[in-house]
Amino acid sequence: MSDRTQTARSVPSRKPCLTAVLRMAGLRPTRQRVALAELLFGGPHRHVSAEQLHDEASQSRVNVSLATIYNTLHQFHEAGLLREVAVDASRSYFDTDTSDHHHFYVEDEQRMIDIPASSVEFAALPDAPKGMKVSHVDVVIRVRKAQ
Ligand SMILES: [Zn+2]
Repeated sequence: MSDRTQTARSVPSRKPCLTAVLRMAGLRPTRQRVALAELLFGGPHRHVSAEQLHDEASQSRVNVSLATIYNTLHQFHEAGLLREVAVDASRSYFDTDTSDHHHFYVEDEQRMIDIPASSVEFAALPDAPKGMKVSHVDVVIRVRKAQ
């Protein structure tokens, strides 16, 4: 597992930088987007659900509805700033680390833990359907506390 504390913030505020990141991703840096980007990208890489981000936003006095959080997360995802990891039909996490890697999902804690891409090997992968190519492979290994 990689040590993610190394990517912790090194400057007090990344606001100007985040504004630039949003612009470069083709998103207008509205106050709400910048505030949510700060929560998401202001520290080490992380995995967050829409509900968790909504709670954090409320605690930071950023008043946004859950619907806006969903929209913003999907916009960030479409813009390539976040990776979406679907755990099941009703639950997705958004990963600030968009590089190739896999995940453990701790079912009892509803938490994701990174697995480096190099730790998972495939003996065989089917060819992509005709006219298509594999964009990436997501592995989610579900774990729970051993009794
Ligand atoms: Zn991850």
